[in-house]
Amino acid sequence: MGASTGNRWPGGIIPYIVSPNFVGVNDLNQALASLEAVTNLRFVRRLSEQDTFVEVINSTQKCSSPIGRHGGGGGQTVGCAPFGFGIGSIIHEFCHAAGMIHEQSRSDRKNFVTIQEANIQAGEGRNFRRISNSRNGSVYNFQSIMHYSANAFSNGNGPTIVPVISGTALNGSILPTALDIAWLNTEYPTLGVVRRSDSASGAGEIAELAMQGLQGNADRLITVVRTASGLLKLIEWRISSLGGVDRITDSGNAAGSASHIDIARGPTSSIFITAIRSASGKLKLISWSAPGGTIQRQGDSGNAAGAATQIRIVALTDTCFVIACRASNGNLFLISWRLNADGSLTRLADSATAAGEAQSVSMTLIRSSGADHLVATTVRTGSGRLRLIVWNINSNLGTISRRGDSGNDMSVTKICGRLSSEARFTPSRRRNSDSRSSVPQFLVTLE
Ligand SMILES: [Zn+2]
Repeated sequence: MGASTGNRWPGGIIPYIVSPNFVGVNDLNQALASLEAVTNLRFVRRLSEQDTFVEVINSTQKCSSPIGRHGGGGGQTVGCAPFGFGIGSIIHEFCHAAGMIHEQSRSDRKNFVTIQEANIQAGEGRNFRRISNSRNGSVYNFQSIMHYSANAFSNGNGPTIVPVISGTALNGSILPTALDIAWLNTEYPTLGVVRRSDSASGAGEIAELAMQGLQGNADRLITVVRTASGLLKLIEWRISSLGGVDRITDSGNAAGSASHIDIARGPTSSIFITAIRSASGKLKLISWSAPGGTIQRQGDSGNAAGAATQIRIVALTDTCFVIACRASNGNLFLISWRLNADGSLTRLADSATAAGEAQSVSMTLIRSSGADHLVATTVRTGSGRLRLIVWNINSNLGTISRRGDSGNDMSVTKICGRLSSEARFTPSRRRNSDSRSSVPQFLVTLE
């Protein structure tokens, strides 16, 4: 299967830099991509704050790498001779860097192979050392990319490695075998969070933010931020397939002061709606056209709403949106809105007094059936408890009716992000007396 020693890389993330004169960059990229395709290892360009990393350099003779992660700062060198040995040798060295040892060095090797000391070239004995404290896979992998061939470092008098069971092939793969991959996935069972790249200095200081993807543009994102000076700004970004981030455009100064901001886009629309607390403290919706490359303000909701904080917005259709917020009396409040052709927004209906107190608010669309939409809100109540309330909202009329809630049984300190509609939770004490129809069930993940 495989064997390792030394320290693993946290999250399987191996930062690396490439020596400026390294000649095998294409081979290196292929080698690292092929490892990423089948394992949880991730190779990322080293950021300045990462003090332990791999430095890839040209090797004029043989390839080499330390085993595992060597902390303490500074780079650890992987030497590659890409034109002499190919992609497989680069993979082999990076497997060393990930912690893998030569298979025939594992502590229990005597059960599988015998080292013929007399046949080893003078001065090369260290290549056949047994590592007594290795972590070993359950199966000895005779074909491993980390296994020497039978005649490695032979002085010409015969093989240096002989399998215990005669006839076992010992010719080492030039690419990782299924057992090698299984071993790396044993050593690195989960995928870490990988910072591929960032927007560098492309964005200014921000105080709040939210984001949405562009319609029909899988590589574009709109972020909405509250700038350091308190202004609302939308910024469009392009995300390349390799994770590069480029700033495309922004909304300039088309919007005034804002806080408690959120953003939504209709399911098939290029119109984004930002929901904010304006400078006067009141809820305001602003529509924006963002088809890709430009961001234009269309219209807004005027003065149709009162004071609000903790604002969230969800699109039900391309023309019907619902906001949830904490009203000035401290209660959760929902309002439905119609987006008009000229970009203005008309208030349709609200939740009246159907919801109780709320200190923090989250909202998600669960499912739609014709003009009827089930929306879930979660709030942190004044006593620090989570309450989940499900609403039915009709996108033709805007009517909002409360369907059911979770009661008061879950104690929380903070509402996490939006609920996933895929999630589930078993409602042991769910109160459902005000609805005859079934209410979807949720798993509520708490921070
Ligand atoms: Zn090696």
